[in-house]
Amino acid sequence: DRKKLVVIGGDAAGMSAASKVRRSQPDWEIVVYERSPHTSYSACGIPYLIGGIVEAASSLIARSPETFWEKHQIQAKTRHEVEKIDPKKKRVMVKNLATQRTGWETYDYLLIATGTSPIRPEIPGVQAQGVFSLSTLQSGILAKNYVTANQPKRAVIVGGGYIGLEMAEALLERGLSVSLIDRNEQVMGTLDKDMGLLVSHYLEDQGVQLFLEESLTKIQTDAAQKVCAVETDKRTLDAELVILGIGVKPNSELAADAGIQLCDSGTIAVNDRMETSEPGIWAAGDCASSRHLLKNKDIFISLGTVANKHGLVAGSVIASEKATFPGVLGTAITKFKDMEIARTGLSETEAVALAIPYQKTTIESSTIARYYPGSGKITVKLLCRKDNGLVLGAQIAGAQGAAKRIDTVVAAIQGKLTVQDLVYLDLAYAPPFSGVWDPIQIAARQLV
Ligand code: FAD
Repeated sequence: DRKKLVVIGGDAAGMSAASKVRRSQPDWEIVVYERSPHTSYSACGIPYLIGGIVEAASSLIARSPETFWEKHQIQAKTRHEVEKIDPKKKRVMVKNLATQRTGWETYDYLLIATGTSPIRPEIPGVQAQGVFSLSTLQSGILAKNYVTANQPKRAVIVGGGYIGLEMAEALLERGLSVSLIDRNEQVMGTLDKDMGLLVSHYLEDQGVQLFLEESLTKIQTDAAQKVCAVETDKRTLDAELVILGIGVKPNSELAADAGIQLCDSGTIAVNDRMETSEPGIWAAGDCASSRHLLKNKDIFISLGTVANKHGLVAGSVIASEKATFPGVLGTAITKFKDMEIARTGLSETEAVALAIPYQKTTIESSTIARYYPGSGKITVKLLCRKDNGLVLGAQIAGAQGAAKRIDTVVAAIQGKLTVQDLVYLDLAYAPPFSGVWDPIQIAARQLV
């Protein structure tokens, strides 16, 4: 019989799930509510949009609501916000943001894929014009338009995570002077200190003014309510543009209000079939928890790669197929100018915190054969268990071609390989691609 799936949130997780259900269940009614003006956009592309590497915002949209309807008979209703879930009556309250009209919509199956919201510090001036945090494509378009219209000269980025780094690159590219504040003693807090230091030094080398162990305390505005300076606990920095990249929180209030169980991290608790505590309701993407394969606990991770996989699993299960999501390793990759950075599994800091006996090594090598044009430096930090050699994690910083090598380590951890196994993996080699020993294997050799 004809079932009805309602999806809340029309981006990575929501649309992956909707598309999967459509492929498996051609007759079902599928309705997606999305409060922003866009569906299936790449938030990951926003820094490149603002930096001008990507010209048109439209090229960050994989599929528009029109395409979803014409090609897949999925009704994607943008500018519609779900305000309440009523699990008992299997219905959601939806507000049409264009007309401000509210009404109830019933469902047979419900998927919550509401993503995250950026954390905004509660400090004076945070509402000023010229202060941006990035989340939806719309938020990126607004930031880009502001930069184009106001031509700021000085930017302050708050937060040295990957969004902070990618925005630093984008704004340098546009000719702004860039300062970056982070309250920690290093940028890229998911790296160990030694690896984070490599990144900090490179940022400074490329002209980013770093202010570490400093916290944003106030944003100063001019008469037109535009940002003109930021204050930290140590200094005042002039700035006509501020980018907040201090983290995100899961959009799980709707679920919580409906009595659905949350994890300590604030994400919606799900099992490996993406089922919530409420029968008939699934959650996927940034708003849902993920099991960390090495920590053996549910964590909050906000990544597009995970969101798409969550969506595929949720869609499969909703459509009555077998699928399970195995979990995550906290794999992440980014780049700042000519430095690529990646990490997976446990850092040394995390291994210590979990009291896991580990061995570590850090090696320096070359991304490709040293004699081949374009070769550059690569630093690999690799960790394995001390007792049995199982690979635990890695961090990489280096020139072009360095970071994607993390994927070898990901496969090794998920496949439960040891460093000994890594040494003899039959990896590809020719001078334009690597040395005869891949840098990952050079590191592994140090640990056997
Ligand atoms: P979202 O993409 O957040 O989508 C959720 C949607 O739900 C939103 O469109 C929102 O408007 C809508 N919504 C929320 N509440 C409601 C409601 N009540 N009613 C209706 N609609 C609602 N990840 C990577 O893996 N690699 C990267 O390089 C990377 N770079 C990034 C760069 C930036 C600047 C940003 C902001 C993010 C980046 N990410 C990256 C993270 C990635 O974009 C997210 O993890 C991914 O988009 C999560 O997908 P999602 O579908 O779970 O949530």
